[in-house]
Order: sequence, then C-alpha cells, then structure tokens
Amino acid sequence: MKYIFVTGGVVSSLGKGLTAAALGTLLENRGLKVALQKFDPYLNLDPGTMSPYQHGEVYVLDDGAETDLDLGHYERFTSTKLSRKNNTTSGQVYQQVLDNERNGVYLGKTVQVIPHITDEIQRRIQVLADDAKVDVIITEVGGTTGDIEGLPFLEAIREFGLEAGLHNVCFIHVTYVPFIKAAGELKTKPTQQSVAKLREIGISPHVLVCRCERSLDKELRQKMAMFCSVPYEAVVEHKDVDHSIYEVPLMLQRERLDDLVCRVLGLTVPAANMAPWQEIIRKLIAPQHRVRIGVVGKYIELQDAYKSVYEAIIHGGVANDCGVEIEKIDSEDIEKNGPDKILKGLGGILVPGGFGERGTEGKILAAKYAREKQVPYLGLCLGMQIATIEFGRHVLGLTGAHSTEFDPATPHPVIALLDDQRQVTKKGGSMRLGAQPCQLVMGSRAQQLYGSFVVLERHRHRYEFNNAYRERYEAAGFSFSGTSPDGKLVEIIELKGHPFYVASQFHPEFLSKPDAAHPLFRGFIAAAHLQLHKKAL
Ligand code: GLN
Repeated sequence: MKYIFVTGGVVSSLGKGLTAAALGTLLENRGLKVALQKFDPYLNLDPGTMSPYQHGEVYVLDDGAETDLDLGHYERFTSTKLSRKNNTTSGQVYQQVLDNERNGVYLGKTVQVIPHITDEIQRRIQVLADDAKVDVIITEVGGTTGDIEGLPFLEAIREFGLEAGLHNVCFIHVTYVPFIKAAGELKTKPTQQSVAKLREIGISPHVLVCRCERSLDKELRQKMAMFCSVPYEAVVEHKDVDHSIYEVPLMLQRERLDDLVCRVLGLTVPAANMAPWQEIIRKLIAPQHRVRIGVVGKYIELQDAYKSVYEAIIHGGVANDCGVEIEKIDSEDIEKNGPDKILKGLGGILVPGGFGERGTEGKILAAKYAREKQVPYLGLCLGMQIATIEFGRHVLGLTGAHSTEFDPATPHPVIALLDDQRQVTKKGGSMRLGAQPCQLVMGSRAQQLYGSFVVLERHRHRYEFNNAYRERYEAAGFSFSGTSPDGKLVEIIELKGHPFYVASQFHPEFLSKPDAAHPLFRGFIAAAHLQLHKKAL
C-alpha cells in the first residue's frame, strides 16, 4: 500500500482538495486503484450543524455521513465511493479517545495528545487501508501548516510515514506563490517559510504544488527547489485555470505531477490516458449551444454554499454539449422587485435546498413564474417543498399553505414532519440522511430520464410531503412520479403539461459527474435549451 499526504501552507482556500482529487484522476487513469480521505482539524463532529457561511456546502454520502465539500470533489473526479471512514474531524478523534478512556481502554495511563490522539488518527488511516483494497490512499489534511489545531494530524502523518517506510509515502505540500503588483514579481518567501514550518515538525515534502496567478519561471523554480530541499522537477506549477476546475488534472499532468509521485512511490505504471477527459474540456470550452440558468437561493454571495448544484448544472451542460451560464439570484431580490424583470429570458430556473424561513417567499414566486410561464424548473429538496407550497396556494386555493418548518400554525401544512420525527430534539445527524430507494412511475418524465424503475438517491432533510393532500394535488395535475418503495414518502413530483417541471425531495446533485451527468440535470438542461430554441423560431 502506498500513501500520499497532501498538506497546505501560507493561506487557506488554495484548492488542496482539488489538487488531491485531480491527482486521484491521474492515478486512476494510470490503472491504479485509489482511495481519498480528508482530515478536518475542527472540533465539530461533522460539518452538519455548521452554517453555510462557516463551511459552504455539506456534502452527503450514501451512508448518510455529512461531510466536507472536498469529498464532493473526490467523488466527481474519481470512481471512489466514499463513506464516513473517508472524513475524520478532530471532534471524532477526541470523542473516540474519550470514550476509550471511560471504557478503561488505556489501563490507568495518562491520556495525552501524543500518543493517544495521534494513534487514533493513524488508526483511521489504517482502517481505510484495510477496508479499501486499493493501491494508493491520498489523505488531505485540512487547515494550514502552523495552525495549532492541525498539529496532531501532522505529527500523526509524520509517524505514519516513518512506519510505512521510505518508498511507500509521498508528502505533497500545496503552497501559495503570490504576485506582488508593486514589485511586479512572484514571491517565494511565504513558501519557504511554510516548508520550514513543516520541516520543524519533521515532515520534508517530496513535492511542492505552487498555486499562482502567473507562470513560474526557471529561476523561481530553482530558488524554491534549493530553499525547500526538493528536486527541481518537484516544483509543480498550479496556475489558476481559465475555464473550469476540470482542467486541473490536465494541467497537473503537463507539470508531470503524477510521474513524480509514481517515481517517489516506486510505482511503474503506464502513462494516464486523458483523452476522454479532454473531450469533457472541449465541451466546456467550445460548446455547440448555450443556455442561461437561474439558481434562486439565499446564500448566493457564497462561492461554496451550492457547490455540487453548480457542478451538476455544468455536467448537465456537458451531456448536452451546451455551455451553461449560471445566474445566481438572491430570492430576497425577487421578494423586493418581483419575479418578472429578474427571471426574464432565463432558459431554466432551479431552486436548491435550504433551511430557515428567510427568502422562501421569493423562491415561491420563482416557482410560480416557472410554472405559469412554462420555463423549465428543477427543484432540489427545499425546491420540491417550495413547488408544493406554490401549487397548493395558487392552483388548489389552499390559502396560507406552507411547510410547518416556516409556519407551524399554517392552516394547510402541505409539508410537515412525520409523526416519528416530532420527538427529535438533537440537532446533529438527526435528519433523513443518505441513500434511500425511490420507485419511479412508469412513463413519467423522471422514469424516462433515469431509464430504470428503482434508483438510490441521497437525502438530507426533516420535512416531507403531507399525504393528507395527495389526492387533491394529483387530481389537479401535480403528479408523484417517485415515491419510497412502500409508497408512503413522496420523492419526486412533476407537473403534467409543462415542458419540464420536476422536483425531488432528495439531492441529485451529489451523484452527478462531469462524464456522467445526473439524469435529472441532463433532462433539465436539455429542456432549457429546447425551450429557448422553440422561442427563437
Ligand atoms: N429545510 C427542509 C427540510 O428540512 C429542506 C432541507 C433541504 O433542502 N436540504 O426538510
């Protein structure tokens, strides 16, 4: 088994996760089996209870683990299936160690960061190594070198590296080489200092991946190689990409990152065949068609809050050879200014998941606009609940219809908690989470798009469609094209007689890939493009 550890220096948000994922792509395309793992130094047990302002999107896995959004990159860039074993936080490590202490596992010893916390971290690498049956494990350590809370993780990987043996471990340090405008120069000092910090801890990186806005010249590379004690070829440039994050594997291949890593690890494998990946990039850069999609949410100003949604839209575009321009629309703007001006000319409207009342009325207006003006609509989780509320209020005449999440006293609780959920008071991990089967109705749009009758989709929500209203909705053309196999839970709705009005209680965006767009996103973009085309004729 070979181990790659990816650490980060100088500043956060350097795209360590992307680097790790892109390296995963390259190694897989060289015929290696790869597993990816993320360590997060914060004390929360998982990001499930964190605000999107703190953390961006919460990425949900099949087993219901609520994880860091980097795991989304891992799944989109490689063929690995992840589980809760692939994301460890300090909180989980401490919880395990404290449980052990209460259970007498440490036999009267003083429990300490070294060795108890560091051993537990190493155990988690080992568990993955034993389970995953792969050739290489790539472990990304979150945070930045020098953070106090990251130290136990760095100490743990240092020790792990010693035990695994010289040719079985590769340390990659992702660092930043800023361009200082006033001097007109790229500066290497932050990298030198960050590597020095890492060496103080006892880790000497084999490879430096340098994030930069401009190209590194020979002299700069030589300087960093010398001061950071790495070979010249081990200084890898990772410049900002022009069009899409999916260019990163190709760029890193040009810089020979995968060759370098294979050499350090003593792996003799053929070069990666990236031709299929190149075709994806071609469709991203020079698509045959174009369409504009509005995403109506409340965390629009945050880059990362709807990460997987934006990615899945782009995948839907790739599948249709269609470039997608994503218009990020604040639902409160629709409340203030009305939908007509803001939504006019869009090829499709998407309402993503969300929690809390703020901005819901704007989303309801957007769903109404899409329904009435025959604009393709895709609703995800809250987006399905919004479509239900809108239809109840404006088509069925259920005045004041709402979700009990937003209005507990509503006369028409069309979205509500199921009886067995009412007792739940704990916040973390208490939702309907993870992959669950959904049965599709023969001949429905969803069924046609999936091309099968039962699908597994990932959930993360508390509230459900209220079955007391089912008949009234169905009679008015609001059809339930996907349900749980026992028929009790509504999973997909669609509108009859509309070009494309589909919404799901689950999150399809978590199962979409650049080379295999999720069927609902593929269908949504196809419909959006077709509608625009028809209007133009
Ligand atoms: N707030 C809604 C619920 O809990 C929707 C959640 C979501 O969109 N992920 O049911």
